[in-house]
Amino acid sequence: MTKRRVVILLGPPGAGKGTQASRLSAALSLPHVSTGDLFRENKAQGTALGKQAQEYMDAGKLVPDELVLDMLFDRIAHADCAGGCLLDGFPRTLPQAEALALRLSGVEVHALNLRVPDAALVERLTGRRTCGACGNIHHVRYSPPKQEGSCDKCGGALVVRSDDRLETVTRRLAVYREQTLPLEGWYRQRGVLSEVDGDRAADLVFSDLVRAATAVGAA
Ligand code: AMP
Repeated sequence: MTKRRVVILLGPPGAGKGTQASRLSAALSLPHVSTGDLFRENKAQGTALGKQAQEYMDAGKLVPDELVLDMLFDRIAHADCAGGCLLDGFPRTLPQAEALALRLSGVEVHALNLRVPDAALVERLTGRRTCGACGNIHHVRYSPPKQEGSCDKCGGALVVRSDDRLETVTRRLAVYREQTLPLEGWYRQRGVLSEVDGDRAADLVFSDLVRAATAVGAA
């Protein structure tokens, strides 16, 4: 039987979890599971869950745990997650971390925490432009598209995600501090937390993440 391994990418909104997770997923051969993406897919498909989640997302609030947990556990029960997965944006509350630990008892879990100062987070988030067609992310300053307003990957229209507006970003950061930050201590206490400085060029951050994940995976 293949050993199951779950890597959790922790960090505030805007720390670069989504961008790093796509690359890291390939490097570690683990499927990338993002609860934010799952909610956005539900929203795009007009499901009841998508509609329920939308009001919380647009307000910069967390979607209630019961809605998140069912969706996430359904997703990680798929065959592609049999060998493990890379979680991005989950868990975000202590009850979510506890529910995951129960679900994964006996599975090797490792949390990578991306640290980025607050001022940098606001600039990163409000400058973000997301492709409405393929989800690719550009940034007005750090990765501008070749042609303004169009995605480099697929040519789709770039938009400001409703939760990347300034007032929503401020709210998301406050929610992060209150509800998600305690997870650092939770995973540190369990001896499975690695800290990575996320306030550097994306390539440097990426190689540190791979090193941290590989060091523990090989242990
Ligand atoms: P993200 O793309 O990870 O920043 O997620 C976008 C939004 O989806 C968040 O601001 C929350 O409203 C919601 N969301 C995503 N993951 C979770 C989670 N684990 N718990 C609660 N809400 C979530």
